[in-house]
Amino acid sequence: MANSLLTGVELGGTKCVCVLASGTGEILAQERVETEAPEVTLPRIKAILDRWFDAEADIRALGIASFGPIDVDRASPQWGHIGQTPKPGWTGVGVAQELGQGLGVPVALDTDVNGAALAEMRWGAAAGLEDFAYVTIGTGVGVGLVVGGAPIGGFGHAELGHMRIPRVAGDAWPGSCPYHGDCVEGLAAGPAIIARAGKRASLIAADDPIWDLVGHAIAQMLHNIVLTATPRRIFLGGGVITAQPQLFPIIRRELQASLGGYVASPELDSIDEYIVPPGLGALVGPLGPIALAAASTAQA
Ligand code: ADP
Ligand code: ZN
Repeated sequence: MANSLLTGVELGGTKCVCVLASGTGEILAQERVETEAPEVTLPRIKAILDRWFDAEADIRALGIASFGPIDVDRASPQWGHIGQTPKPGWTGVGVAQELGQGLGVPVALDTDVNGAALAEMRWGAAAGLEDFAYVTIGTGVGVGLVVGGAPIGGFGHAELGHMRIPRVAGDAWPGSCPYHGDCVEGLAAGPAIIARAGKRASLIAADDPIWDLVGHAIAQMLHNIVLTATPRRIFLGGGVITAQPQLFPIIRRELQASLGGYVASPELDSIDEYIVPPGLGALVGPLGPIALAAASTAQA
């Protein structure tokens, strides 16, 4: 096991990352593929995987950490298939089948955020924590909520990024989620920010009032997560947060204000250590599918 290798694919809304890693989470190779139509993107990913499997004899598993919705129920005939999505062409595509075909190793599958959460637990700043949340604000809003050492889920994976939340008084912008309008993702994900501002996110000033609205929406979601699962720490990452670190103090302040002192805990008293960037930094995404692959070989 010590010398064995693992492969992973992080399927994102904007980009996909293929990873070859050691069993201990050291990344040996990483290749990026843009997310386009599945018939373009999946063969490109498959070609990278085939090349690695041809070159290396000791690859033990493939992990796939995917954007949602995706069927992660092993007992379901639709396991590995993307669900209803506004992404053109992706609805119903069997990504686990297409990518795993002919490799001869177990395929482990979960959401991108659950993968990232497990990577933080295995190799990052969530080591030793059984209860925490990994939140990403990027093309969408995703949450990997780990309770008792495992991500929550039932008939499917959780979709906390689509929860409904109270709005800032007087803000009536309808939101951009095609399913719910002003859910958290419809107010705070990258495409929502661009739609509201009417310009590229990188052109919005760091002190623009839009960030107060975005931070408020994220904090409302965290309010509900704190009250649901009392996570010991909340990791906050993704393209929007990474590019706009001024959101951290806004979110911390809005969360404290929203909770209104109701939850008394040392965690919330030290809010600067409670809501923090991922310990693995930019590696948290690529190591997500590797953590899924590692877990599958440990069980085998
Ligand atoms: P993915 O969600 O595909 O995994 P990321 O987490 O990198 O990818 O997030 C990509 C999102 O980050 C895009 O929706 C984009 O709008 C947003 N983004 C990129 N640059 C900035 C920026 N300077 N400010 C705010 N948001 C940004
Ligand atoms: Zn929604």
